[in-house]
Amino acid sequence: MTSLDASVEALLILAVAACIGALGAVVQCDALHRCEAAMTCANSSTFSNGWQTCSFANYVDVIGDKLYGNKANDATGNYAALTRGVCAPGERVHRNSVSGRLECAPWRMWPSALNTEIMDPNATRMHTRMCGAWIEAGPTIETTLDYWSFHDGFRAEAAVRHADRAAYQSAHLSSTDMGKFYSSCTAAALSGNAAVRSAAMGAYTHLKHGLNNLTTQRRILKAAGWLASHHCDSPVQIGVAVSGAGFCATVQQGSSFSASALADALYALDEPRSLQEQARVGNGLVNANALQSPATTKEEIEYVWKGATGRTDHGAVDVLMASTPSLDGLTYISANAQARYAEASAYLHGVAALCSFAIRGGIDVESAGEYTAATGELQSLRAKRPPAKALGRLQGEHYGRSLSMVDDGILTQASTVTLSQIQAAPRGDAQADCAAMVDFLFPDRMDEQHFRLLVTDSLYERAREITAALRESAARVVTDNEVIRNVLGNPEAVAEDIRNTRTRIAGAPRGTWAGLQRDYPDGLLSSGDGPLIMALKQSRAVFTDRVGLLFDNENPCSGPPVYDALGANAYIYASALCTHMLLGMLRKPFADERYDNTSLATRFGYVMAHELAHTTLNTHFIEPEYSNLLQEYSTPTVYDEAIADVISALAIIHAGLATGEEVCRHVSQLWCARVPIGYDHDATGSIHPGPNDRGDHLCATLRDLGVY
Ligand SMILES: [Zn+2]
Repeated sequence: MTSLDASVEALLILAVAACIGALGAVVQCDALHRCEAAMTCANSSTFSNGWQTCSFANYVDVIGDKLYGNKANDATGNYAALTRGVCAPGERVHRNSVSGRLECAPWRMWPSALNTEIMDPNATRMHTRMCGAWIEAGPTIETTLDYWSFHDGFRAEAAVRHADRAAYQSAHLSSTDMGKFYSSCTAAALSGNAAVRSAAMGAYTHLKHGLNNLTTQRRILKAAGWLASHHCDSPVQIGVAVSGAGFCATVQQGSSFSASALADALYALDEPRSLQEQARVGNGLVNANALQSPATTKEEIEYVWKGATGRTDHGAVDVLMASTPSLDGLTYISANAQARYAEASAYLHGVAALCSFAIRGGIDVESAGEYTAATGELQSLRAKRPPAKALGRLQGEHYGRSLSMVDDGILTQASTVTLSQIQAAPRGDAQADCAAMVDFLFPDRMDEQHFRLLVTDSLYERAREITAALRESAARVVTDNEVIRNVLGNPEAVAEDIRNTRTRIAGAPRGTWAGLQRDYPDGLLSSGDGPLIMALKQSRAVFTDRVGLLFDNENPCSGPPVYDALGANAYIYASALCTHMLLGMLRKPFADERYDNTSLATRFGYVMAHELAHTTLNTHFIEPEYSNLLQEYSTPTVYDEAIADVISALAIIHAGLATGEEVCRHVSQLWCARVPIGYDHDATGSIHPGPNDRGDHLCATLRDLGVY
């Protein structure tokens, strides 16, 4: 009993203490809210990782500081220390341009990009020497892998999008198609449900233009292609993938729909009950026959192609066919023997209705988040596909998983993004929802705008010069450097590939050295269209642009990147001799127009030369020389990336752009990171050397090679 009493007493004490503590917190928080409102203080706990409290720091005006603070005159006080305040070494307080909140952000240095403040000069390991102070200042228990280079990547991206939107978010700033669509979209969304619904009816009518007289199998298959060409979720998806040095078309599995989804969508668009019923039956027939009917033949696929592209000159186009059960079901029931034309036609009308619903869902302010059968269907369709940022663009990997390769699977997925992937849910806010649709529908124009915002003319020109210098230097390293030469099956061929690899920077002005050469997709929008018809026209224009690459027999450097352009990443199609660099590699700490040559070469240049050096994948490696060269690296799974790093570093050194020590210091700082306890990089299956190790192992290898 006594022990119980004691514990009750203990609880009471705790409870009272908690009350008093809470009261204190209330007073403290009240003081914070009042001084924040008066803009005389800032919540200082927002700077700390982990939870927030109501601690605050006062702003002091210049006179007040002179009278009472006077630290600036203190011989020990310096500007850097004063502005750093509560932030970690290498970071400064700034006001976020999007949220308006105060926060700590990396303070990137220039003209030398090497940040001296985050270093720990007495440390033994290279990455700690380069950024031990920043790593040390991290949270006591690190929960996520946090690279110094990508630490505020998401915020930087948000700032760019925010600035972009400001450039077109007014009916008075609608000079571009993005602005025109945005004005039309917000006008509809702000007018309410009736206007949005009417726009959706217009979109459905637009799609129905391709669904006339569906009384033969040929017409039905063409109609299925027509819907796929608008990025509708349809029984078949047509995409573009890389094959060897060029592109090939992919025909693959589209969507299958649940029992009443199509009928419900037709109901919502006021189609008669008879059509709804036929669509229900048609959908049932397609699903029932999906898996057991014979595969759609190449001749039958040609009709789908023709309906999608409106072209017949596809003889030279390589087509990669995957299994397409839903299309097989549709082909089967619309064959002469079955002749279920009415049901097949109703099924395709239902697909068109659901597609109209998908784009309507992007701006449906009134029913945002509301569950209907059609939105439920769209959500389940979306859940089956990878996250997309825009038509033809996947979301991309997390920050820090840089410099990757793209396989055909990724490319195919990117080229068959559908309208149901438009966004997770409309927020019910016309401005935000319409801006999200602009992002989704105009990826190419958006890239250009991002580029203009991030890359100055002077930086673009310097990037060209450094790329040219490193390209030649890398080619010489593979043929002339004895050690490198001896690990490559065919060094001359690799050198040739390095010289011939095209380089693209996302959004670079079309026709310039790193830009695409084609014109922008043009949906031929008109002010009378209404936002959802504009969306469909633009969607088809993007499709037509992408399949145009096939007809023109072009290479992967003729098309846009497959990832969102703002990502901090770069990748290469080694077999097709084309590399794409995303815009996250064109800002600090990778590039800046104020960077000195050493910094630009060891950062942006290092990434570019690394990509070019991946053409080593076009030959084979010679053992045991290869393993000997890369013995500092932890596991052979990272060798493909390691050799690219080593060749890149040597190219920079041989071009005279930096010494071995400089390369080592810059690269170590680029890849330094706060690593969670127990993090096992090898277990992640990554093909890249791990955080911190990447610099350490490169430095050790350069030392083995005697260049550092
Ligand atoms: Zn790589």
